[in-house]
Amino acid sequence: MSKIKNLIVGCGLSGIVLAERIASELNEEVLIIDKRDHIGGNCYDYKGQDDIIIHKYGPHAFHTKYKEVWDYLSKFTSWHYFTLKSQIVIDNEKVTLPFNINTIYEVFPEYLATKISKKLINTYGYNKKIPILELKNSKDKDLKFLAEYVYKKIFEQYTVKQWGVTPEEIDKSVTSRVPVLVSKDNGYFQDKYQAIPLQGYTKMMNCILDNPLIKVQLNTDFKDIRDNVKYDKLFYSGAIDEFFNYEFGALPYRSLYFDIQEKNVEYYQNTAITNYPNNYDFTRISEYKYFLDQKTSKTTIAIEYPQEFEDGKNERYYPIANDSNLELYEKYLQKSKNLSNVYFFGRLGDYKYYNMDETIKRALDLFKKVKENNVTTN
Ligand code: UDP
Repeated sequence: MSKIKNLIVGCGLSGIVLAERIASELNEEVLIIDKRDHIGGNCYDYKGQDDIIIHKYGPHAFHTKYKEVWDYLSKFTSWHYFTLKSQIVIDNEKVTLPFNINTIYEVFPEYLATKISKKLINTYGYNKKIPILELKNSKDKDLKFLAEYVYKKIFEQYTVKQWGVTPEEIDKSVTSRVPVLVSKDNGYFQDKYQAIPLQGYTKMMNCILDNPLIKVQLNTDFKDIRDNVKYDKLFYSGAIDEFFNYEFGALPYRSLYFDIQEKNVEYYQNTAITNYPNNYDFTRISEYKYFLDQKTSKTTIAIEYPQEFEDGKNERYYPIANDSNLELYEKYLQKSKNLSNVYFFGRLGDYKYYNMDETIKRALDLFKKVKENNVTTN
């Protein structure tokens, strides 16, 4: 194999965006490889029955506050504007998630709901977002009651299913992703830009890769070629512990299993996602036709089961943020700094629970750094 100018490992969102930037802006050749047989990493989607677009690795609703990321993607796709709506089953009833003032009125008698929402508004202010672990510290009797209720009914068992530990045993940034909202906004996210690529994520990512300087090679595991491949620069979005042969031990991940089922009904549920915190072994059911508002006579759902990640058996989905894992990651990070011309990025390369937009932002920022270095070294 001749020397490659830029080798990118991992054809997920981060690798794809970086490949495009290098090819378009630096006019350099890029080889991007992936061990899977498709592009897109966990953002990959495909057409199922009735052409419903299925997110193979679980529901992906794009949302960002970064104009830069929105403008970047908008060069490669048109959008279906979409605000994710979710429900959660509490005591056998489906109610609004995230837990907000509407949910308070759905679960409590009116006099109590009015009392609690007034307290919430007076204490925190309208439109504020309160992480559940923060609300739990409240000294006020009514807010304490509310916090205990939300903790028990929404967070405790869901988190145990999802992560294998209680909310206290995982970094607080995880449960803060779904705060209690002091508002009547039923959207799952509050970002300025929220939409789904009109023809799906895979189509958008193929458009990003559509550059004669980019060569994509699937079914190619870096492990198998690393001894024979030569490159000027390596951009690695695979798992950082695997890159270093697990020298300090394996970084733990959570995985998921999706039971994708076709249903012979027009709609299966009221919203794109329903959460099941307290019953069953699964956490969520997603109904895919909602994401692009596809009008079909049948529907397709995905039932989501959290699992432990086991190499070779399932895929890495979530880095598990806690003190000991972050300490372990730090060792790999320090080691990575000794390498020149090797860059780590992406959810697995950085061991960070990035959302799609954060992963893109990270790739765009990495590119800026690479470009600057090019200018100073050339
Ligand atoms: N969470 C929960 N109950 C819910 C929704 C979320 O306990 O009904 C907690 C849980 O720990 C979860 C985290 O909040 O892992 C983040 O949820 P999010 O919906 O952001 O997870 P993702 O969509 O990234 O899997």
